[in-house]
Amino acid sequence: MALGFSGSNGGINVKSSTLHRQDFIRGPLEISYFVNNVCNLSCRHCYVGYEEPKNALSVEEWQNIFNQALELGALTFGNVGKEPLLAWNKSVQLLNFLKQKKQENPRIRYGLVTNATSFDDERIKQLIEADPTYLDISIDGTREIHDSVRGFGNYDKSLSAIEKILCQGSSFSDRLFISFTLMGANNDVSLIKKMIGELQERGVKRFMVSPYVVSINQNGKDIGITKEQVTDTYERLKTEANAWLGSQDQLLLKVDYDTQKPLMDLLVERGIIELGKLMIDDYATIFTRFGNIYISYIPAPRTLIRDVRISHDGFVSGCYDMFFKNYPDRARGSLKKRKLAEIIAL
Ligand code: SF4
Repeated sequence: MALGFSGSNGGINVKSSTLHRQDFIRGPLEISYFVNNVCNLSCRHCYVGYEEPKNALSVEEWQNIFNQALELGALTFGNVGKEPLLAWNKSVQLLNFLKQKKQENPRIRYGLVTNATSFDDERIKQLIEADPTYLDISIDGTREIHDSVRGFGNYDKSLSAIEKILCQGSSFSDRLFISFTLMGANNDVSLIKKMIGELQERGVKRFMVSPYVVSINQNGKDIGITKEQVTDTYERLKTEANAWLGSQDQLLLKVDYDTQKPLMDLLVERGIIELGKLMIDDYATIFTRFGNIYISYIPAPRTLIRDVRISHDGFVSGCYDMFFKNYPDRARGSLKKRKLAEIIAL
């Protein structure tokens, strides 16, 4: 599970670089959905520190919701949690449904965010057949650091899955993203460099950094990270990381508006994001580019305007609301009772 809408979304579409200010907010809808609300890990930094398996939507209900979203202009569908591999049959059916829809509209993007510890050969085969436009796999450092955050033995399981996916699905080298949560425990540029190097040796080309939001579920004192620490690290990555990246590699440094606006402001103040050099891609993602490093920028709130999160049981809310056990109370409405268009318009 990753913070932010749909994880990487497949990264930045670098073909377009024209900034259209009218697209800032009302870009295409992005749907991030929790296919379930359970996980096989208990990561120290997990944003969703509860489990709620009851009342899960059926495949047919999800398909109906996706059709509603498509009618509203949605182009991006991210299966972001809690752990898609624990609802694999449903996840695969939904990925294949979106694969069909993509044949009607090639701009549709669909993917999943996973810890990748429960892949086996059959699941990898089904994943490759479902042909997602992106796959985010969570890795939070080298083996020792990753396992200290996510549990002993999990680095090797995830790495094994990465190797097999890249071996059996060669086209995944352009769409398999390492999703790295930057927190106190791994805020070390040398560590990030080493991790990237180890993954590059396996054929990985896409890397994404999302800073940890410290305000909730701060279970360990070494987990939290300040906006100043993130800014220092982003500045060093901007200066140094192009030297480590291959010509086809991409490093995406993310920010979020709702939970990290002070961080974005500091990145601008320190000149790490230069407002005069912003670009926008074909999905209205705003970014600034330094060689193969991309830093995202969100100039205004987008929650429930452009970004929509749907819980496993059909509640529609912002991303942040889903971190709380009382998410039904925080949600704007339930898709079991209303249409998506009605809920968004409320
Ligand atoms: S793998 Fe993701 S959803 Fe599962 S416990 Fe870890 S952070 Fe949470």
